[in-house]
Amino acid sequence: MKLANYALGKWITGDGEGKPLYNAVTGNVLGYATTKGLDFAEMMHYSRTVGNPKLRKMTFQERGLMLKKLALYLLERKNKYYEISYATGATRADSWVDIEGGIGNLFANASLRRQYPDQPYYVDGDMIKSSKNGTFIGHHIMVPKRGVAIHINAFNFPIWGMLEKVAVNLLAGMPAIVKPATITCFLTEAIFRDIIASGILPEGALQLLCGSARGIVDHVMHQDVITFTGSADTGLMLKSNPNVLRKNVPFNLEADSLNSCVLGEDAVPGTVEFDLFIKEIRKEMTSKCGQKCTAIRKIVVPEKLVEDVQIALGKQLQKTVIGDPKLKEVRMGALAGKVQVEEVRERIMELSKNSDIVFGSLDAVDLVGADSAKGAFMSPILLLNKNPFYDEAVHSVEAFGPVSSIVPYKGIDEAIELVNKSGGALCCSIVTADQKIAREFTLGAATHHGRILILNEECAKENTGHGSPLPMLIHGGPGRAGGGEEMGGKRGVAHYMQRTAIQGSPTILTEVTQQYQYGGKYKDTVLHPFQKHFEDLEIGETIITHKRTITETDIVNFGNVSWDHFYAHTDETALIGTTFEKRVAHGYFILSAAAGLFVHPAKGPVLLNYGLDECRFVKPVYAGMTIGVRLTVKEKTSQEVKDDIPKGIVRFLVDVYDQTGETVAIATILTMVKMRG
Ligand code: NAP
Repeated sequence: MKLANYALGKWITGDGEGKPLYNAVTGNVLGYATTKGLDFAEMMHYSRTVGNPKLRKMTFQERGLMLKKLALYLLERKNKYYEISYATGATRADSWVDIEGGIGNLFANASLRRQYPDQPYYVDGDMIKSSKNGTFIGHHIMVPKRGVAIHINAFNFPIWGMLEKVAVNLLAGMPAIVKPATITCFLTEAIFRDIIASGILPEGALQLLCGSARGIVDHVMHQDVITFTGSADTGLMLKSNPNVLRKNVPFNLEADSLNSCVLGEDAVPGTVEFDLFIKEIRKEMTSKCGQKCTAIRKIVVPEKLVEDVQIALGKQLQKTVIGDPKLKEVRMGALAGKVQVEEVRERIMELSKNSDIVFGSLDAVDLVGADSAKGAFMSPILLLNKNPFYDEAVHSVEAFGPVSSIVPYKGIDEAIELVNKSGGALCCSIVTADQKIAREFTLGAATHHGRILILNEECAKENTGHGSPLPMLIHGGPGRAGGGEEMGGKRGVAHYMQRTAIQGSPTILTEVTQQYQYGGKYKDTVLHPFQKHFEDLEIGETIITHKRTITETDIVNFGNVSWDHFYAHTDETALIGTTFEKRVAHGYFILSAAAGLFVHPAKGPVLLNYGLDECRFVKPVYAGMTIGVRLTVKEKTSQEVKDDIPKGIVRFLVDVYDQTGETVAIATILTMVKMRG
């Protein structure tokens, strides 16, 4: 059976016989994959002209809700994917990361919509004042690119690998062509069929290639984005493609990585941390058969504890039941294929030139319910390299399987040097309860790592583990790890958007950004904004309140009510050497007094006030000064309609000014406002 590709809005079977795909456990042929006959340039044109306009015109809220709907749809069908996933050699626990971890990325990015406005684009950072009188300002906007994201993925996570990326480009408003590694693409294809069948995504949002994508990067254009996960060699070849270089197409590279885990010198046998360390290493060596980009390849151990670690780890690895991943007792399944087993063996041979194998065998593996002649099985292999400062291989050869090397160190500086010798890695961990060691190590290793986990008893129960990249934290590492950055919440979304500096008057920039810019022209309103429904409020709409003179009594009373008796509000004799000339009114009082001026007391569409975004007290207010408020609609975000009242969030700019017209305090308040409908 030939797997189909999803191209130009339909399922298309490629020409020719195709590449055979094998069940990693039984060795049986599962099907064939071919993309022959597909026109990549046409597919990319289709994404750019059909999928892109639909997605980029949707708002962040709409795109986020679309992801949530898709996540719920796929979650209902997850058991189907678990069944197919066994054929990749994965146990149920391995598949959980791939399937539910992948769907989790959709949920996490769906929730991320709350950090964006109700627009297809967003405003990045703060306004830049570019003129003396404030009539000319600068800002930055982020708009969805008008191209297509090309995702070229590795074989180890057929579902997570796709979903962690498409969740982000879809939230950003860009379509994608997904190219999973051929060997495990049958699992990607299974979930992709459901994605399409759901009808949740607009036409042209996603296309799928099951088979080779050689030549695809020859057709990219400058509005496209390429993300690549795989080996450094393939990554380099694609990244240095002349068309990619000429058109300056962003290329996010996630390559192989020699990740480390350090045992702190304090974490001696008998401590909770020592046991945590052993557990973490065993888990990272055996889960997904060590075929994880984040797996621990270097076990960095204080010299005097090497033997203890070797014994403790040996005991744990001995207990690992290997075999048919469908069996409950099996903890480690098969590698993705026989080719992978051969590659891993070759790498171990390279490593063992200067290291000893202290656990496991290349010749034999005890299996439960499986046949080593048919399936892609191997034993976990633990190596010991006694001279890591004199061997390059342990810092550069990645055996992408259940393989790890112990390397000894003396003192924290050596530990840092050893982890940094990987030349840039995705992540590393240190297991220590010593705060000083944790700090010194983290600051020394951060330059060479994308993520650092500091593990000890305090976070033992809830930590997410060395090997788990999280949707809201960046995943990627410098140097050898590719220099890429993906996921990471808003940071990841930015990769699919163009950041543009915009300049003009505050009034014009208010219109462009749909966010009131300080100094912009006000729009007068007869009706108080608190009396208007969400739909009827306009950005820039302003009321100027009546005024109030602040008195000594106000300051004394507020001190008594709040119990805030800070000397600057109470002690006239303590002001020498401060910036105050007289007893100053409490900043919180000025804000409260402002609320007294701008709040419309009658019941209306405003349901509640739920906080402040920014607040600054910019000029002291003394007794005798008079304040008033300019209350302006700054930004609006509609909310998902649930069973309750339809509503949205309105941010108001509260500009409190004195009798000279100068601002004394400025804040953004958040209110929840009812919709008419
Ligand atoms: P690979 O051989 O480099 O392949 C990666 C992807 O590139 C596959 O989808 C492959 O497709 C595709 N590809 C190869 N040549 C291509 C070309 N000329 N044009 C377009 N696409 C092309 O790597 P792999 O063996 O699948 O994965 C294992 C490696 O990935 C390991 O070294 C591991 O460390 C690394 N990895 C890194 C991360 C990370 O996040 N940093 C994550 C997972 C894995 P075909 O399958 O069709 O050849």
